Amino acid sequence: MASTNPKPTKVTPITLPPLPWPEDALEPFISKNTIGFHYGKHHRTYVDKLNELIAGKPEAAMSLEDIVRKTVGKQTKVDILHNAQQTWNHTFYWNSMRPKGDPKPPREIAEKIQSSFGGYDAFKKKFAEAAVGQFGSGWAWLIAQGGKLKVVATPDGEDPLPTSATPLLTLDVWEHAYYLDYQNRRKDYVAAVIDNLLNWDFATQNLAHGNDKRERPPRR
Ligand code: MN
Repeated sequence: MASTNPKPTKVTPITLPPLPWPEDALEPFISKNTIGFHYGKHHRTYVDKLNELIAGKPEAAMSLEDIVRKTVGKQTKVDILHNAQQTWNHTFYWNSMRPKGDPKPPREIAEKIQSSFGGYDAFKKKFAEAAVGQFGSGWAWLIAQGGKLKVVATPDGEDPLPTSATPLLTLDVWEHAYYLDYQNRRKDYVAAVIDNLLNWDFATQNLAHGNDKRERPPRR
C-alpha cells in the first residue's frame, strides 16, 4: 500500500452508473423486461440501500471497491458489505456483456485461455459448469491470478475483489437474472450469454488494469 495517497475529503454518494447499452440491446438472449427489472429495480435498490447504510459512517468517504475490501469479515458491517458487493458486481456484470459479443477473445487473452484451460471450448465448458453448478444464488467469474486464468463461482454477493485475483468477466446466476426469460432453465441462460454476449474487450481491459497493477511496486 502506498502511504502517499491523499485521503478522500469529499463525500459523494455511490451512484448507479448508466447501462453500457440500451435496455433492449441484449435481445433475444436477455429481454428488455429482464434488464428493466434487473437494472432498474434490483441494482438500483442495492445502490440506494448502500447509501442509506453508509450515511454518516467512514465508508461514506470510501470508493466502492474500498468499501468491499474494508468491510469483508467484519460482523458489524455485513449489511454494508452485501449491498456494496452487489452494487459493484452488477456494474461489472453489465460490462461483461455486449450486444453481438465477440465470438472469440482477442489474441492476448486467447493465448492465456489456451495455456490455462487447453482451448476456448474447454474454457466455455468450465465457465458454464461453474455458473450452472453454483448452488442457489451467486456469480461465476473468469479471473486472472498468478499469471493464469481461472474460473470460480461465488455464493450470494461474494466476489473476488478482496483477493489477489483480477476479475475479468462475470455472470450473474441469481434467479432474477434469468427467470422472466428462462424460468428454471439456468443452463439455457448461461449458454446464451457465453455463446453470444461475452465482452472480451472488457476482459482485456481488466487484464491490463486490474488488481495485478496494484501489486506492482509504485512508480516514482
Ligand atoms: Mn443480479
